[in-house]
Amino acid sequence: MKPISLKPKKRGCLLGILSAIVVIVISGYFIYKSFFSQGYGRWTDYPSFISDPEKFDAVMLKPGMHCDDSPFAFPTTGVIFGLWGQSYGIRTIHTGIDIFSGTEPGITPVYAAYDGYLTRESGWISTVIVRIPNDPLEPNRQIWTYYTHMADVEGNSFISDEFPKGTYEVFVESGTLLGYMGNYSGDPLNPTGLHLHFSIVKDDGTGSFLNETLFKNTIDPSPYFNLTLNQNDNPGDFPVCESTITYEDWGLEE
Ligand SMILES: [Zn+2]
Repeated sequence: MKPISLKPKKRGCLLGILSAIVVIVISGYFIYKSFFSQGYGRWTDYPSFISDPEKFDAVMLKPGMHCDDSPFAFPTTGVIFGLWGQSYGIRTIHTGIDIFSGTEPGITPVYAAYDGYLTRESGWISTVIVRIPNDPLEPNRQIWTYYTHMADVEGNSFISDEFPKGTYEVFVESGTLLGYMGNYSGDPLNPTGLHLHFSIVKDDGTGSFLNETLFKNTIDPSPYFNLTLNQNDNPGDFPVCESTITYEDWGLEE
């Protein structure tokens, strides 16, 4: 009698090991990918930035900066940690850029990045939105620029007195002082780190802005600043100008 072959069993065992390896490799890839899609290359530096922002001078961008022929000027002073398209938790995709100055709330000025018409709705504590009738990159469409967190933890606003609640459609030139960077989140027990959130919001087609909190309603800010601000293109580096830097004359002191 022929001895029973062990081959099929061995093969089954081998298949098991192979599929385990495949599962490990695939899940490893996704863990790796989600790790880097969080931009840990930047965020791992955050504690060190908070303790000594001056160490980050090389990646600290300045107000009024144009990178090459960028349509928008940089609206404040700071290091960009959060990019457009970055995962900020399950089902939350970041709609703009987060710029951190490393100072205290109410100190770092925030300026308009481009000419437009400013609105601050009656309930808005820390936010203004500026309508740009002709998108400089797609002149036939209207876009909106959104600036937020300009208040302290308790909701004391840092928005310029020029723009009280209920301001509608006031023309502002690029370089107009809008307010100061803050850390208001709406929850005094859970403030954000001090930063400016800036985003470009789509128009709804009838002259109003869409809901800014939804990623699909926002636009990649990269070409407006000539900086790599799309998380998919820049998983870990701090965005800096890789071309010629000029400054718009906003009359700021050096
Ligand atoms: Zn943000």
